[in-house]
Amino acid sequence: MSFILQGIGVSGGITIGHAHLAAPAALEVVHYLIPKNQVSKEIIRLDNAFASVRKEFKLLQSTVTSGPALAEFSAFIDLHQMILDDPTLSEATRNSILQTHCNAEWALTQQMDVLLEQFEAIEDAYLRERKTDVVQVVERVLKALLGHPGYLPPASKNLGDSILVAHDLSPADMMQYKQHQFTAFLTDMGSLTSHTAIVARSLNIPSVVALHYARQLILEDDCLIVDGNRGIVIVNPDKYVLDEYRLRKSQIELEKRKLKRIKTVAAVTLDGEAIDLYANIELPEDLDQVKESGATGIGLFRSEFLFLNRDDLPSEDEQFEAYRYVATRMRGKPVTIRTFDLGADKNLKGTSQVAANPALGLRAIRLSLTEPQMFLAQLRAILRASKYGQIRILVPMLSNVSEINQTLHLIESAKQDLRAEKIAFDENIQVGGMIEIPAAALCLEIFMKKVDFLSIGTNDLIQYTLAVDRVDDTVAHLYDPLHPAILWLVSRVIQTANRAKMPVAICGEMAGDIQFTRLLLGLGLKQFSMYPAQLLTVKNQILKSYLPDIIPLAHKTIKTDNPEKILGLLAKLNS
Ligand code: PEP
Ligand code: MG
Repeated sequence: MSFILQGIGVSGGITIGHAHLAAPAALEVVHYLIPKNQVSKEIIRLDNAFASVRKEFKLLQSTVTSGPALAEFSAFIDLHQMILDDPTLSEATRNSILQTHCNAEWALTQQMDVLLEQFEAIEDAYLRERKTDVVQVVERVLKALLGHPGYLPPASKNLGDSILVAHDLSPADMMQYKQHQFTAFLTDMGSLTSHTAIVARSLNIPSVVALHYARQLILEDDCLIVDGNRGIVIVNPDKYVLDEYRLRKSQIELEKRKLKRIKTVAAVTLDGEAIDLYANIELPEDLDQVKESGATGIGLFRSEFLFLNRDDLPSEDEQFEAYRYVATRMRGKPVTIRTFDLGADKNLKGTSQVAANPALGLRAIRLSLTEPQMFLAQLRAILRASKYGQIRILVPMLSNVSEINQTLHLIESAKQDLRAEKIAFDENIQVGGMIEIPAAALCLEIFMKKVDFLSIGTNDLIQYTLAVDRVDDTVAHLYDPLHPAILWLVSRVIQTANRAKMPVAICGEMAGDIQFTRLLLGLGLKQFSMYPAQLLTVKNQILKSYLPDIIPLAHKTIKTDNPEKILGLLAKLNS
């Protein structure tokens, strides 16, 4: 049966391929085959995961030694222990790996499905409810398995034209998929500027999120057309639709090839204004794409991605190597390293989110300042790497001037230690502030006294100004970059910085969205930082823009409070 699903397109382009369903447990897993000679190793991996959960249960038991909760808690752990030890879970999973040579995660979730079906048939309501416990135990074992490198198919495995269909993916999950060759991503959950979407965009393949029922309605191996521009998924299309999309796909590819011609052309408007086009990266591996894009610098290195999907923290030396590699490969072009922005939707392994409002909680610089050892290790690594290129430090989520004061103090103390150890670094390293909280935008002048440059994080600025959670698709329709309050704040920051001759960039997703390019140029923006795949499209728009025409229209746009008029003016700007 053919049908269409509508979601939010977060990464453009068209893919035609076959569905590959992520497993139904809360932790998404994929299916792959284990080479025959590795099957016994896979079983050992499974056994180790069961053993480590057994240990977890022992530890949990020992944490509650008295009090009213003891009896209830013990009964709960005993029940989970029983499920864990039940051969219908472990033995059957083992047999399935032996017989079908599939990966442990897949075998386990398949067996979980079998058990859940059996529970469904039980008449006793209490026992039927124990389904949740089975899922929780399986999730624990899956978590233990995920700590092992075997979680995903080997990076070299050819996944053909597979399109991953998942209920939800965290930014950390998405990072794992970075090395795998899925040709598109579909999720039920998600929104345009969630970090999961940002990573999907950096993969440069079509992705659609907020599809709500994709995981339920799409079957393994269904033929899919994913249109990332329109946020549409066509399931089992007929021949005519397929032909139409094949044509569109080849047109898009042709356009992309044509754009490559301007890779080395300077980004200058028709009236001669030079614009800096920088790239956003998550890992040093993204540099190949940066080179392809012709970016003249890194405007945002989201360094926290070095901290995800691992059991330990990256050491100072490991971070130094990563930063040095990027600085060296960028050959003297600016490399803006944002200090780790952990918290909210990007958490260290094993530190699941407990705060009621994580986006308003201990995130980014707030977290860094509560973990001075971890923060100092990063600052030392950045400073040491600054000898190898033009590195700049960018501080995320500033809301209070004391945060920048404390950060500058820590940078100074790291510098002093390095001097004492006779380790070279760039004495004049620049420190910038991210303007992504309305308080910082409103009190900009105070922050400007402390920093060398500014970068506007529109993703968070929109979230915090409009009180719209950027990862919650139920309020995605309220997440509006064209809200008068956003336009006013963005324009205020750009103009205040320009007047003071302080460099200011936008590194949020607005910078890479071509519908805003002229508006931002007209407001005086000279530095744009975006995901590399979008850079040439934005450059093309800049090459066709004439500031004397654009500036009055842009200013008219920010003075208007009527949403329809704003859209009309935007259309005029882009015509
Ligand atoms: C932003 O908030 O706009 C930004 C660039 O940072 P991040 O998306 O990583 O929060
Ligand atoms: Mg941000």
